[in-house]
Amino acid sequence: MKMTVDEKPLQINRGISILEAIYSSGARLQEPDCGPVRRWTNNYCCPAIHLAEVDGQLVTSTLLARLMAQDGMSVKTSSPSIDKALAERTRMLQERHECFFVRGMQKVIAAEAESAGFIKMEEWEKFAFPLRGAAPSLVHDPNRCVRCRACVDTCRDVQTVEALRFDAVEGVLIDEQRCVRCGQCIHICPSGATHKYRKLIDLLGCGSCPFDKPLGAMRERDETANAWSLLHSDDCYPVAQFAPAVRASLAQEFGLAPGELVTGKLYAALRRMGFRQVWDTNFSADLTIMEEGSELLHRLKHSGKLPMFTSCCPGWVRFAETFFPELLPHLSTSKSPQQMLGAVAKAYAARRLDVDPRRMKVISFMPCTAKKTEAVRPEMNSAARYLRSKDHASDFPDVDLVLTTRELARLLKMAGIDFGALPEERADPILGSYTGAAPIFGRTGGVMEAALRTAAALVTGLPPEKMEFRELETIEGIKATALQIGPVTIKAAVVHGLGNARKVCDSVRSGGEFASYHFIEFMACPGGCIGGGGQPIATNASTRAARTAGLDKDDREVCALRVSHENPEVKSLYTDFLQTPLSPVSHQLLHTHYTERPIPANPL
Ligand code: SF4
Ligand code: SF4
Repeated sequence: MKMTVDEKPLQINRGISILEAIYSSGARLQEPDCGPVRRWTNNYCCPAIHLAEVDGQLVTSTLLARLMAQDGMSVKTSSPSIDKALAERTRMLQERHECFFVRGMQKVIAAEAESAGFIKMEEWEKFAFPLRGAAPSLVHDPNRCVRCRACVDTCRDVQTVEALRFDAVEGVLIDEQRCVRCGQCIHICPSGATHKYRKLIDLLGCGSCPFDKPLGAMRERDETANAWSLLHSDDCYPVAQFAPAVRASLAQEFGLAPGELVTGKLYAALRRMGFRQVWDTNFSADLTIMEEGSELLHRLKHSGKLPMFTSCCPGWVRFAETFFPELLPHLSTSKSPQQMLGAVAKAYAARRLDVDPRRMKVISFMPCTAKKTEAVRPEMNSAARYLRSKDHASDFPDVDLVLTTRELARLLKMAGIDFGALPEERADPILGSYTGAAPIFGRTGGVMEAALRTAAALVTGLPPEKMEFRELETIEGIKATALQIGPVTIKAAVVHGLGNARKVCDSVRSGGEFASYHFIEFMACPGGCIGGGGQPIATNASTRAARTAGLDKDDREVCALRVSHENPEVKSLYTDFLQTPLSPVSHQLLHTHYTERPIPANPL
């Protein structure tokens, strides 16, 4: 057979691909200059930027490798149309971190929205609105929005927050004061939902590329570039922590089964990315139980404010601050595990490691968009305040940067880490060990269950008789029961989703049924953190169930110890530094206060 490559005749055998024919002629596909973005992609056969022209049609490298060369075919590796396409595609990658193919998928989604009558494609392609959002968690890009209004409905009907409004000219408008940063609007937004095109992405070989998924019209504020800079700065000592729920959801971003536990591989991956210490938020989940369980017992014993509300979910905390400020004394003053780890990392572990706490940068990987807002609360600088009283002059936050599970996957792909091929490793000592009480923090009912295990031991002085509280399992959103903990009867409830939280708060406020309870767990997102706004897309009933099963497996089958007060590193932290739960130094570093946030008189 005869064909031409760059106008030079070539004799070929039947059954070879066009790409093989190009290589056998000595020609090569162009290597466009993608600047720093290219260094991130680590995808040297990226189909978006490796092209040839075959009989006048642009064809990607992936297809060139699959299509057979034909007699009489004319192939060009350089032509004005290749130059034009490459210029446009590399510009998109460099300037907007947006892939040509991904943009194409969004156009398909927009065409579907046009058929449903939401937009006119002609007008959509000309949108040029500035970005909106709720800093520092959420970005809304009106130019990608297909105006389906699903986010407006979710915020109003599921979360009862009503932070979004639809305007016929401007599109979706967001009220930053009302928004609690839960991120549930991200999961419903169709413009980020390219899991429907997963097979196409895999076919094209894009799975290892950080740009393989679109940044939807509703999305988290992306911190991957800032994390990359911290990791490559000589002035920093970057340390990592990742939340309980991340270990049971990250697998989905790498094409593995949803809910598969990747704890050991994630320790290995973060270490290879350059983190100097790889710690685990599960450690500080155990620490949270020590403080929160002791606080509950203290309130029960000393006629404190009851029911006590859990406080580790920052979306829920902001909801309470905004819509139920009179109930704030019910919130446990114990900080969330993310913030506890940041505080003890800089006030305690830095000294053990002989590292200047001002150089230590704590980067968190969380299933949650509200955690980004939690980390920048002005009071979340406990380590700096503690150390200032010991002659350190400067101020710094306890947690420096928060990335979602989705951003973590992007960062790992930027670093070119082959996640599936990594060995299982362990966390670093000091703040790395955990018990089975910690992973269950990531699912609804878990904080309650973990606290009751330790509370039972503290009340009776004996190991808890009961580890699992199935009577508190709920997919409906509210579950209440009375539990016998030693000689004490505790009326406990578990609530997830803010619409349900509103019902229970209304009841407590009006002296209704829940006012007589002792302990109530609240989570802003359906299912708890496993359904968090920063989790992989799709997050739905089936992925939430798989992730819950993964966390329960960690508790029941992987962890040798299952009660927080038996965590050996938590015990050492108290012996060496904090003394006891609720001690003055524990209060200084591990407890916080809340702020009333006035609601605008006229919602959007
Ligand atoms: S983040 Fe939550 S509260 Fe804010 S707009 Fe989205 S759904 Fe509403
Ligand atoms: S942001 Fe997403 S969910 Fe909201 S209207 Fe636009 S496309 Fe629909």
